[in-house]
Amino acid sequence: MNLIDPFARAITYLRVSVTDRCDFRCSYCMAEHMTFLPKAELLSLEELDRLCSAFVRMGVEKLRITGGEPLVRKGILTFFEAMARHLQSGALKELTLTTNGSQLRKYAAELAGLGVRRINVSLDTLDEKKFAEITRWGRLAQVLDGIEAAKEAGLRVKINAVALKGFNEDELFRLTEWCADEGHDLTFIEVMPMGDMGEVQRLDQYWSLKDLRARLETRYTTTDLAERTGGPARYLRLNETGQKIGLITPLTHNFCESCNRVRLTCTGELYMCLGQEDRADLRAPLRASPDDAALDQAIRAAIARKPKGHDFDYSRQKVAGQTQRHMSHTGG
Ligand code: SAM
Repeated sequence: MNLIDPFARAITYLRVSVTDRCDFRCSYCMAEHMTFLPKAELLSLEELDRLCSAFVRMGVEKLRITGGEPLVRKGILTFFEAMARHLQSGALKELTLTTNGSQLRKYAAELAGLGVRRINVSLDTLDEKKFAEITRWGRLAQVLDGIEAAKEAGLRVKINAVALKGFNEDELFRLTEWCADEGHDLTFIEVMPMGDMGEVQRLDQYWSLKDLRARLETRYTTTDLAERTGGPARYLRLNETGQKIGLITPLTHNFCESCNRVRLTCTGELYMCLGQEDRADLRAPLRASPDDAALDQAIRAAIARKPKGHDFDYSRQKVAGQTQRHMSHTGG
């Protein structure tokens, strides 16, 4: 039986964080010197396969692999290979990932070969110095080369840029034009109060997407698109270029009624709502028995607890450590 929550929403989309580790240290996401989880805490690739396969068996049709940085997890292609069998059987409609792009030169062709069609690449700036500043450890040239490799492999790329006041405000048109030239979709994400950048800076960096849109409209005329994904994204079209632009406002909760998704951390905790801390441990039932009966029951019990909606708690910025763990596990 497929997963239906108490508000009659079908759960068809699972986001899976496969690691808490990352080769970048984006200041709004992680502290520079992160303490990562001991290996025993993490689900093995075989356990991730078993868990994801259980969700697919119960009606999940879209799987997004994220992190940390998913492509730095050792042996990650084995996991993609395992998930590709669900694409081949037709049970899974889409297998995709969100990546910082650093490892795409190495993996893009193989991912495409396994049936991945579209990927999200996080990129906040096209300025080399600013890129090094915000990611602390990243190099822009490597990411641009990775994006090129994805294109060559025939993957459709969506660029995700976090809107940061005083940081990439001045690149709004440059990013938009670059995406139009390269044929990439583009989505802006409102910054969430987490990461490690100090209270003052954090408040300073909030750039509302309402303002961003108003600024876009000084140059382009826009049309709202009806398209919804069940998540916090809305889309508009720039009439002059035909480009589709996404706006993700995770702090709002006006998408809850159509919410179709849950998030799994790399330690096997299932978060039923983006804006709430309630979660269910799936690792214990997974490890308790090689048989899936207890696991299936734990998944159903968790979905039965999925809340109707959320009102993002702004006081979370005061418990940055806690929220930070959530973010680097659930992958945004
Ligand atoms: N490493 C991969 C990447 O860079 O895309 C996947 C994980 S990353 C946590 C997923 C997305 O979350 C990225 O687009 C990142 O920019 C976004 N993100 C991280 N911290 C955020 C924050 N505080 N507010 C909004 N988005 C954030």
